[in-house]
Amino acid sequence: MTRLEGCEPLSPVIDTHAHLDDGRLRADLAGTLARARSAGVVQIIAIGTTAADSAEVVALARSNPGVFASVGIHPNEAVDATDGDWKAVAELAEGPSVVAIGETGLDRHWDRTPFDLQRIWFARHLDLAHRLGLPVVIHARDCLADLIDQLRDLGRPVLGVQHSFAGRWEEARALLDLGLHLSFAGMLTYTNRSLDPLRDVAARLPLDRILIETDSPYLSPHPFRGRPNEPARVTVTARRLAELRGIDPRQLAHATTENARQLFRLPDRPSL
Ligand SMILES: [Zn+2]
Repeated sequence: MTRLEGCEPLSPVIDTHAHLDDGRLRADLAGTLARARSAGVVQIIAIGTTAADSAEVVALARSNPGVFASVGIHPNEAVDATDGDWKAVAELAEGPSVVAIGETGLDRHWDRTPFDLQRIWFARHLDLAHRLGLPVVIHARDCLADLIDQLRDLGRPVLGVQHSFAGRWEEARALLDLGLHLSFAGMLTYTNRSLDPLRDVAARLPLDRILIETDSPYLSPHPFRGRPNEPARVTVTARRLAELRGIDPRQLAHATTENARQLFRLPDRPSL
């Protein structure tokens, strides 16, 4: 069966953030991509988090039409990264299937990498992306204020996306003012009332700055929480977002797909 239960098809949608090289997705990659295609997903951006796995997502992008790669070292992985790793990432970044730099950013939740070191690695990614004219894929956990400060210090607009945005309106506004897009994941579908403010942000943002993603295998949307997420389920988040904004899901699908294609300069073809 290629149709995934609970994912009413919606097309065209792009999953702008999936960890396709994660073992949970990789175990049945052909099935994962087939189910995504059946759900209406036309393209996927596979995200690297270390030098080794950046090489893997580039290989996946080369061998799977409709899959593109983002290369970088996640803030929680930076503590183990070497200069050789950075050189490898910078070389990969020049490849034709690479459409972004990251996942990079700042994380105070896990605090695995000393925060000053996280800032240094984030700055390196921002600089590389800027030099190559590529968008940057940004992670932030429990430190949006620090992140906004570091971006403001650059003194220039930043091309890229704040992925899996989970902040407040003022933070969203600041990131938009810096030039970033905001991407929403399964959290929009969670039933916790504490996420109502996030839903308000998602409803109010300008439509031309919004992207959608799964962050699979993490952040499965309701009612699939606790199970590994996969790109097909980006349709669940897309439908919820359309509902929050009071627009037709197809309109939301087309708009977010157009936004992703512009930001990451994705070609219309190939698709999955
Ligand atoms: Zn991620």
